Amino acid sequence: MNATAELTVETADRVDVVDITDGVAGALPDDHDGLATVFVRHTTAGVAINEAEPRLLDDVERFVATLAPRGEWDHDELDGNAAAHLRSMLLGRDATLPVAGGAPDLGTWQSVLLVECDGPRERTVGVYPH
Ligand code: ZN
Repeated sequence: MNATAELTVETADRVDVVDITDGVAGALPDDHDGLATVFVRHTTAGVAINEAEPRLLDDVERFVATLAPRGEWDHDELDGNAAAHLRSMLLGRDATLPVAGGAPDLGTWQSVLLVECDGPRERTVGVYPH
């Protein structure tokens, strides 16, 4: 059983995409070969593996904002963030990636992206080597 690490990620906007690849890499045991699951411990954020090109990250933010309209859901009566929960459900809260020699074995253009749907706030991401 490998140790689980936890990352803390600050997000800056209501919808925000943060490249957490370096943090995930730093959380992996030096000698790990296998897989690692990155798990976002929240109901209004998600994780994706894609290209961290700045214009694409802006596009992702615009796209995420279209996934569910704001302000017309029952849960909004409680805390006004139903759209963020729904967007998070579509994104998914975990990603599994290959690990070789303690480093993420990603494709050339792949990065691990935390997708904030109800920021800005502090997020906690678990990294589970297996
Ligand atoms: Zn809520």
